[in-house]
Amino acid sequence: MARKEGAISEEANVAAAAVAATATTAEVFENNPLRDPRDKRLPRVAGPCVLVLFGVTGDLAKRKLLPAIYDLGNRGLLPPGFSLVGFARRDWAHEDFAQVTYEAVKQYARTPFRDEVWKQICEGIHFCPGEFHDEGAFDVLAMMLKEIDETRGTGGNYAFYLSVPPKFFPTVVEQLKRTGLAQAPDGSWRRVVIEKPFGHDLKSAQELNAITSAVFPESSVFRIDHYLGKETVQNILALRFANTLYEPIWNRGYVDHVQITMAEDIGIGSRAGYYDGIGAARDVIQNHLLQLLALVAMEDPTSFDAHSLRREKEKVLKAVRLPDDLGLGTTRGQYTAGWQGGESVIGYLEEQGIPADSMTDTYAAIRLEVANRRWAGVPFYLRAGKRLGRRVTEVAVVFERAPHLPFSKDDTEILGQNALVIRVQPDEGITVRFGSKVPGTAMEVRDVSMDFAYGESFMESSPEAYERLLLDVLIGDPPLFPHQREVELSWEILDPIEEYWATHGRPEGYPAGTWGPPSADAMLARDGRVWRRL
Ligand code: NAP
Repeated sequence: MARKEGAISEEANVAAAAVAATATTAEVFENNPLRDPRDKRLPRVAGPCVLVLFGVTGDLAKRKLLPAIYDLGNRGLLPPGFSLVGFARRDWAHEDFAQVTYEAVKQYARTPFRDEVWKQICEGIHFCPGEFHDEGAFDVLAMMLKEIDETRGTGGNYAFYLSVPPKFFPTVVEQLKRTGLAQAPDGSWRRVVIEKPFGHDLKSAQELNAITSAVFPESSVFRIDHYLGKETVQNILALRFANTLYEPIWNRGYVDHVQITMAEDIGIGSRAGYYDGIGAARDVIQNHLLQLLALVAMEDPTSFDAHSLRREKEKVLKAVRLPDDLGLGTTRGQYTAGWQGGESVIGYLEEQGIPADSMTDTYAAIRLEVANRRWAGVPFYLRAGKRLGRRVTEVAVVFERAPHLPFSKDDTEILGQNALVIRVQPDEGITVRFGSKVPGTAMEVRDVSMDFAYGESFMESSPEAYERLLLDVLIGDPPLFPHQREVELSWEILDPIEEYWATHGRPEGYPAGTWGPPSADAMLARDGRVWRRL
């Protein structure tokens, strides 16, 4: 693999870059107006390492991973000598990949473009052309990594990020084993990062795990559920466990029910090949929504280390109960032609690459309960769908009505239930809905909202989930990555539902731009409740 003249940096350049990186870190940290001057903590920075990105020509790499690497560099969080190796089936030189990365950064990075940061990252960019089955390409990769260790001081520390179609996970993992790349020499580390989906049911998740665990120890496997990298999702833990206000009422004595929604306004776009046969429940309920449920319902962990956090989430997932009647307690839909943002859009079955008789759910709603002392009898309604009214992900904890209202019925006619709503995206923040007197001579009471918006309270925009998760991989910090057991427990919840759906007719149609099939409304109406209007 020939590198064009002068592309690999000299040691002196590396050292200079290291100094620049440190200066940037301190600068960014010191200049933050919201930093409490008493806070002497320095930001977490990874040690020297190489990130090997498989699937660099893919959508995820372009939109999220490459920009996140730049944003980390811009925040001074990449280590000196940090190197990025792209692996893909293109006849590219290192500079071609650098150009592709540059374009992705320019288009999608969160933080402003700075020449000096880009130059620093660019010096560590390498490209290895190859196909996943090609043993020779992996041999070249192994040699390239050795050379990078020697020239950039990365010490044999490699993170392998599999941003590739799931069917290639076993092939790549096997190649890493064969070349010895999976095996860390003493004093260094090797980690593998796997993107969801982790299988498509319990059996396939276990098979995938058998393959990875034969090559990498569990402590070196980082499963990405990018929702856990979102600030708002982590803030569920801060909200619950850093305050005294909410925890006393966070239980069946006060909570009437919980609604967890992930609504998308887009259709499947160009992802027909991935989405068809998977559907909304497997795509996002099995991972993102069940993780949100676990964070909302779990007991406080003894600490925020990976073991304690995962153990509490596992307990919740183990306590989840399905409805007795899956026909009444679950529902699924498939979007038909309709209107979105003032434009007419086609239905799922008309999308390119979708079979005319596809049974895939583009909407799914499920009523679950958590069978423990805290939550017994409190329904958790989960819904996810494409081509819904608008894009929004939120968790709404809806509280019981006051046991007694010392007002006339007319005065409280339009008073709803108190609710605490965690807005995961967009407009990240928290809203508390409560009853307030309407100004005037009568004692009329109606709902008002108290709002916390991230954008207003903190001047810096929230880091992208992938920035946080990539940094955690490089540092080797696992709390925000689901353990295999959580993955399996989530499939144990979903598998019976998918089996039921597979033998009970078609998904119900719903016009694009609406809020899902009528059966979803009926499911809540049977409980005397309604979905929140979003
Ligand atoms: P994608 O656009 O289909 O990209 C797949 C990548 O794998 C491309 O770079 C492709 O290279 C490469 N590839 C495929 N077959 C190959 C082979 N035989 N040898 C070498 N390279 C090969 O997929 P994606 O959307 O980026 O997603 C990547 C992973 O992230 C998947 O596991 C997906 O499920 C997961 N994920 C994606 C998103 C998202 O927003 N996109 C969100 C969550 C999870 P070519 O260009 O040569 O085909």
